[in-house]
Amino acid sequence: MKCVSVWALSLGVFVAVASYCLGYPLMQITVIVIGIIVANIPEGLQPTVTAALTVTAKHMMKRNCVVKNLDAIEALGACTAICSDKTGTLTENKMCVWDVWVWNTLCGVETSLAFDSLKRCGALCSTASVGPEGAIHGDASETAILEFLFHTDDPTARRLAYPNIAEIPFNSVNKYQVSVHLDTKSSSYIVMMKGAPENIISRCSTIAMKNGESNFTDAMKKVAEEATESLANTGERVLAFADLALDTKDFPMGFEFDTEKENFPLSNLRFLGLVGLMDPPRREVRSAIAVVRAAGVRVLMVTGDHPGTARAVARHVGIATTPRARVVTGAELRDMTAGMLEGTLSEYPEIVFARTSPTQKLQIVEACQRLGGIVAVTGDGVNDAPALRRANIGISMGITGSQVSKQTADIILMDDNFATIVVGIEEGRKIYDNLKKSVCYILISNVPEIFPVFLFILCAIPLPLGAMTILCVDLGTDMWPAVALSYEAAESDAMARPPRSAAHLVSGRMLFLAYGLLGLVEVAAGMFAYFVVMAEFGFYPQDLFGMKNHVLNVGLVFELCLAICICYIPGVNTFFNAYPLYFRWWFLSLPFSVFLLAFDELRKYCIRNNKLGGICNETTYY
Ligand code: ADP
Ligand code: MG
Repeated sequence: MKCVSVWALSLGVFVAVASYCLGYPLMQITVIVIGIIVANIPEGLQPTVTAALTVTAKHMMKRNCVVKNLDAIEALGACTAICSDKTGTLTENKMCVWDVWVWNTLCGVETSLAFDSLKRCGALCSTASVGPEGAIHGDASETAILEFLFHTDDPTARRLAYPNIAEIPFNSVNKYQVSVHLDTKSSSYIVMMKGAPENIISRCSTIAMKNGESNFTDAMKKVAEEATESLANTGERVLAFADLALDTKDFPMGFEFDTEKENFPLSNLRFLGLVGLMDPPRREVRSAIAVVRAAGVRVLMVTGDHPGTARAVARHVGIATTPRARVVTGAELRDMTAGMLEGTLSEYPEIVFARTSPTQKLQIVEACQRLGGIVAVTGDGVNDAPALRRANIGISMGITGSQVSKQTADIILMDDNFATIVVGIEEGRKIYDNLKKSVCYILISNVPEIFPVFLFILCAIPLPLGAMTILCVDLGTDMWPAVALSYEAAESDAMARPPRSAAHLVSGRMLFLAYGLLGLVEVAAGMFAYFVVMAEFGFYPQDLFGMKNHVLNVGLVFELCLAICICYIPGVNTFFNAYPLYFRWWFLSLPFSVFLLAFDELRKYCIRNNKLGGICNETTYY
């Protein structure tokens, strides 16, 4: 747009000077210059782009993709990498308990102390609410846990027996959740904790067994870690549970628990067990990822979940397809320099980031961008806002997304579904292709708008198109077809080619096509019509031209044509030992021509008006 304006203005100035030299009165020069500038600036472009993007946004809305920032559509078309969440985006976020592990058995649904303590912790350390008919609402993991642990009885009784005193809500940095409860029977307090197993296991010193508790030795911790590992490797999301009965001496009734200052212990807990939740991958995601990858877009999984779980899901949906797929954990990422991360990103085509924190998501986005990528990032949490803001396309989730993430995002997926991103990429590519068509169309019509003005100056024919008419064409008649081009169906190869490099909408080739070929055809059509209409009114072409020496004019054209023939026609040019001029060479003599023209017209003007006396006589040839 800037280039076009500069070009239009400089051409305007050039024409102003030229027409002044040709002796046009000021009034007419003004008309000419306005004509030139108006003809050159594609006034219809901006409204066309906006209209086209708006049309696309409406279209995407119908397919569950709400566009907040219109520019994001175009960016999606150029997107080279997607950093995607796992839970809810690649998976259904419909959890189901598959395994329960209490020392040292899987699925120990039995009347053991360990299982009962786990059940109590599951009921209490939870934000899921239990409705009047036992209907459970809340976080998918917590709902699944409650539904599993309490499929015969009601957690409400436990909740009444142990009212909640204080809580530290789950967040994806700590990856755990804590609550403090009052044991109404014994008038004491209990701390309950659940979260990512490695964070919980390291805080425990005892473990609940079948009939009592024992020391949680390092060897036993190892067993628990291995159990976690094997559950995770099947794709389960594993949560560990722990509790701690607080001493009434240190924590008497009425004690003020402060979750900010953490004035209560979160260590030496009693380990209760593990719960493995299965969150099935979304059915449509596998094919969506195949489509995206065929379109040359890389899909990176960035999750807070366990590396085993992440890898299993990545395999299932087709993000990790080869043994070379790399899993990078948050701990590894912490030890990497920016350069090392870039190296890993370029070395491994398939990468899964697991146990990451939201800040690390930001680091990954930045590294991708430093490698020249146009990055789309999904995020639902409050902490995801910086990564969403930094990404070229920030994508939030309509269902699970926090308010903050929705505000920061450019696009919101109403169904939280990864497959909907593909819709966006398709539409982005389509609109870019179609905008090119619109722009080309608009540029072409510039040529028949400019050309008559030149004819008007050089040949002094009556001006065929005034500035107002040009504006009417650009903003009136031309708008509809230009916008209509954005309704064109996608090119068949739109999703089969690699993402376009961040090139300009207008390429050299397009300029040549518009100005050099198609535009000239329109000029021919327009001028033909002009001369025919003029002739109908009795003005024949020879009467229209203000220049009378046709022999000279024809001669000039002939000279130019001959020179071009000599230089460009193969065979002829070898005969004359000439060869095609480089395009830039055409410009070498241009300043001189301009100068020559200006100088000569000035000279003639002076002579005609008898100014400057003697000097002029020296510069005439007669
Ligand atoms: P993601 O959204 O990428 O799947 P999260 O940050 O939500 O990852 O979860 C990371 C880990 O935190 C899980 O693997 C799980 O161990 C633990 N976790 C998830 N939800 C809860 C919760 N409500 N309470 C306690 N721990 C949780
Ligand atoms: Mg999550």
